[in-house]
Amino acid sequence: MKVLKFGGTSVGSASHINNVISILEEKSKKDKVICVVSAIGGVTDLLQQSGLLAQQGDPAYLEVARAIEEKHLQLLTELINENAAEIKAALKEQFQHLKNLLNGIYLIRELSPKTTDKLLSFGEQLSSFIATETLNARHSNAVLKNAQELIVTDDSFTKAQVLLRQTHSNIAAYFKNAPQQITILPGFIARSFNGEATTLGRGGSDYTAALIAAALNAKELEIWTDVSGMFTANPKLVKQAYPIKNINYQEAMELSHFGAKVLYPPSIQPVLELKIPILIKNTLRPDESGTRISTPDVKEDRNATGISNIDHITLLTLQGSGMVGIPGFSKKLFGRLAQDRINIILITQASSEHSICIAIDQKDVQKAENGINETFAYEIERNQLDSVLIEENLAIIALVGSRMKHLQGMSGKMFGALGKNNINIRAIAQGASEMNISAVIDQKDVKKALNTLHERFFEGDHKQVNLFIAGVGNVGEKLLVQIKQQRKYLKEHLKLNLRVIGVSNSKKMYFKSDGMDLKTWKEELKNGEIARLDGFRKKAIDLNLRNSVFVDVTASAAVSKEYIYYLKESIAVVACNKIACSAALEDYQQLKRYALKYNAPFLFETNVGAGLPIIDTLQNLMASGDKIVSIQAVLSGSLNFIFNNFTDQTKFHDVVQQAQEQGYTEPDPRIDLSGVDVARKILILARESGLAMNLEDVKNKTFLTDNNNASDTVADFYSTLIEDEPHFQSLYASAKEKNVQLKYVATLTENVASVGLQQIPIGHPFYNLKGSDNIVMFFTARYPEQPLLVKGAGAGADVTASGLFADIIRIGNN
Ligand code: ADP
Ligand code: ASP
Ligand code: MG
Repeated sequence: MKVLKFGGTSVGSASHINNVISILEEKSKKDKVICVVSAIGGVTDLLQQSGLLAQQGDPAYLEVARAIEEKHLQLLTELINENAAEIKAALKEQFQHLKNLLNGIYLIRELSPKTTDKLLSFGEQLSSFIATETLNARHSNAVLKNAQELIVTDDSFTKAQVLLRQTHSNIAAYFKNAPQQITILPGFIARSFNGEATTLGRGGSDYTAALIAAALNAKELEIWTDVSGMFTANPKLVKQAYPIKNINYQEAMELSHFGAKVLYPPSIQPVLELKIPILIKNTLRPDESGTRISTPDVKEDRNATGISNIDHITLLTLQGSGMVGIPGFSKKLFGRLAQDRINIILITQASSEHSICIAIDQKDVQKAENGINETFAYEIERNQLDSVLIEENLAIIALVGSRMKHLQGMSGKMFGALGKNNINIRAIAQGASEMNISAVIDQKDVKKALNTLHERFFEGDHKQVNLFIAGVGNVGEKLLVQIKQQRKYLKEHLKLNLRVIGVSNSKKMYFKSDGMDLKTWKEELKNGEIARLDGFRKKAIDLNLRNSVFVDVTASAAVSKEYIYYLKESIAVVACNKIACSAALEDYQQLKRYALKYNAPFLFETNVGAGLPIIDTLQNLMASGDKIVSIQAVLSGSLNFIFNNFTDQTKFHDVVQQAQEQGYTEPDPRIDLSGVDVARKILILARESGLAMNLEDVKNKTFLTDNNNASDTVADFYSTLIEDEPHFQSLYASAKEKNVQLKYVATLTENVASVGLQQIPIGHPFYNLKGSDNIVMFFTARYPEQPLLVKGAGAGADVTASGLFADIIRIGNN
């Protein structure tokens, strides 16, 4: 004897019902099969909706009823096209009953739980009838048995309690003599000891099937649905979730209690006692192995088994100084909630016993609030207790696994991962069995929390990083090219899945919430929305993706002002824009503080020396307790280029222009030539060495003339370079005469930072610096004589992009 249950989606369309039929025909060759069916997908909701409309006196209930009728008739037509008249007539008769019932509700404007059950029963009655007729039309010998004649309950309508002994003997007695190979039974519906229609609670068809399997001591109970098993998390919310091959009863019970809708929680109890395994299978992919729920403990190498979530939760907190002194407080509280039939999903109580927190379904909140305030009116009036505090729009997420109790630090890992992604935890609970750690969080964070925990516990070390890139000019575009080239490598070797979610230039912005195609982003951006800094940020915040990173590839002061808002949302910031780190000291310090407070890295390696690991080296020296004695550096790729190419055979103006054309200077070359750019860089290094310094504190000896410095525009500036050519030639001549090289040098010695053009003698490490190379010498307590040296290309789009890329990877690996 085999018991199979097919859910709403499995009987949702003709093609799905055909799948069901082939599964039944196949199985019934060897065994007798009992097939429990749910209502056709969505029909129970429609029935409920029509009842509510009728109750409210809204004639639209008739349209809903018509839609239900239409759905079933259409299905029947698709499934049976010959000799269907009689079957159609029988169906129509049922619809007449349905309409009569709805009309009754409409007339008296009342929909009691008892009537609700009568109404909802139609769904399974209709689907089981259609399934049986279809099978018989195809020459199977199927018998429809009304479950109401077998399953007996009390009269708690809408979620009736099954009277097990009587139900068992009914089932056993009926099937003992049933000769048919296939029996079709409607799930979910039952009858009370008074003979009234009842239902077993939403999702209750699973339970019907479990009762049958237990009463007949079946070999196995098969639950056929629209997914290939019980997944590590709801596959509709977590793309990376996968089916759990084996799971024990307790874990499955815990997951389903905490929201894994794939199995109705009470269904496990009847089969657990008899150790009947439950198999969860996919009607649309019957070949996939699915999930096997069984005993004993499964010896699989996994720390956690699954994560689930319950949405629409409200938290009630009762607190007050007098709480400890109230005799029988908990009894009174829980007694009242039980009396009002309010289900408590989670309880936490501080050991001080000054407050107790309970989570309930949002729909019960009014009833609970009134009941509690009434029960404790006397204590509230005497200020022993505050009125009950209510927090809405919450959800519960639960990490489940029977091995968790043997492992240390699971809750630390869980809360660490959530905290890192700015997911606020309102309450936590851990069952004494340590099989489940649950947290109450904001409803809006559920998807992010599930994905964060899934990544932490179920994806090996794979990590998704979500990028929002502002500025897709020269450097930004190169960064996107590099990401595109490296994605596969990163996935395979570093287990990082880099996704670009948003890009923006000064005119347009474009988003793709599951990651954009890096071949077509340019076109999409052209057709994107009008760019706005606050709009870009709002989108990044609203999407609420884990491991989000804002990347600033602009030179804009306005963009640099955005960082603080991103960090506050625990979104990491990577910038090649130097403005933030060289702005007023308080602003820089605030960014650093926020990065720590919100656990969001703020990285700006490319601020100094493009892709060279200068800041990283300095931070590592500091972190490991070294002391900076002095820094000497050539940090301007642009000035290097200029002085390396400037001779008595060239014109200073032309060389500057060439540098700008080749992308070695800032868009305004005065920022480089005035030394401001280098001053910002040494300032950043000074700050990273622990000095509280501002840009004004950096001594800047300019090599430009007053005439150059007085220019208002870039064009003016270029003209003054022509006018003052003799000045530059004399700088060159003096160097040539002494056989030295001109280098623009930044130093930090004895807490004083300065920048200026210097004559570098032969043999000095700076002397042979080529092209746009940078060099930094760190003299420290550990490197007193021979400095730690970092040298290499310090400008150019490619190396800057690769520096940004390295910062992004650092965040990913963090
Ligand atoms: P049926 O109509 O077959 O009874 P349900 O809708 O009741 O199907 O249950 C299946 C659905 O449960 C899936 O489509 C999925 O969205 C949801 N679900 C939630 N959590 C899980 C999980 N951990 N594993 C599988 N499915 C889940
Ligand atoms: N049809 C009922 C519901 O939608 C029972 C079930 O599907 O299990 O809740
Ligand atoms: Mg279900």
